[in-house]
Amino acid sequence: MHSARAGHGRARRAADGLNMTQALSIALSKGRILEEGLPLLARAGITPAEDPLSSRKLVLATNLPDVRLVIIRAADVPTYVQFGAADLGIAGKDVLMEYEGDGLYELMDLKIARCRLMVAEPANLAARDDPKLWTRVRVATKYVNLTRRHFAAKGIQTDIIKLYGSMELAPLVGLSDRIVDLVSSGNTLKANGLVEVEHIADVSAWLVANKASMKMKHARLKALVDRLAQAVG
Ligand code: ADP
Ligand code: MG
Repeated sequence: MHSARAGHGRARRAADGLNMTQALSIALSKGRILEEGLPLLARAGITPAEDPLSSRKLVLATNLPDVRLVIIRAADVPTYVQFGAADLGIAGKDVLMEYEGDGLYELMDLKIARCRLMVAEPANLAARDDPKLWTRVRVATKYVNLTRRHFAAKGIQTDIIKLYGSMELAPLVGLSDRIVDLVSSGNTLKANGLVEVEHIADVSAWLVANKASMKMKHARLKALVDRLAQAVG
């Protein structure tokens, strides 16, 4: 009895020790999120040990001994965080709207990588088109789930063509007249003869957290999240 209790105590101390030394990880993607995220992390006092833009490493140490960065594809960030493979993540609202898991806390808007989700179509079609009259639309997009939801909420049926990028090409080659895509300056749309016909959502990058981590590593995560909140301003 006595020794069993002592053993249990040892096991628990060992587990605490493991937790204490386990680094907190922040998952984020190369490209826009990293470009705008690095200055934000720097303002929060977090700098990677080597330049993530040139390094081929996927796990990067930082100046904080218990914080590391995990570099993954943008659309994978919610998955890593939901399954606890990363404690925190930085993901665009577009990616979060598209993701259908539910194991995440959306902690705060980081106000970086701002753009908007739009329905776009060729300018010559838009001239005689009225979105209020749509009953069924064919749409090319990488955002299959959010596109279906957006149109279903308005009673519009969709034939969705799943793409992995360059949605602007679809109308030019007759794949679909309409696309759902991100727009920031609008230059890419314009260069391809497309115009925005419907606004779906404003997009920016959010800080997300694994639910279990927020309980199990609460103090350390809260300190990190507070630093980021200050950096956002
Ligand atoms: P990928 O092409 O692999 O999706 P990006 O770096 O282009 O990677 O996009 C990652 C995230 O950055 C998107 O999910 C979105 O939230 C944001 N983003 C993408 N394009 C823009 C843009 N033009 N302006 C601002 N933010 C953007
Ligand atoms: Mg892109």
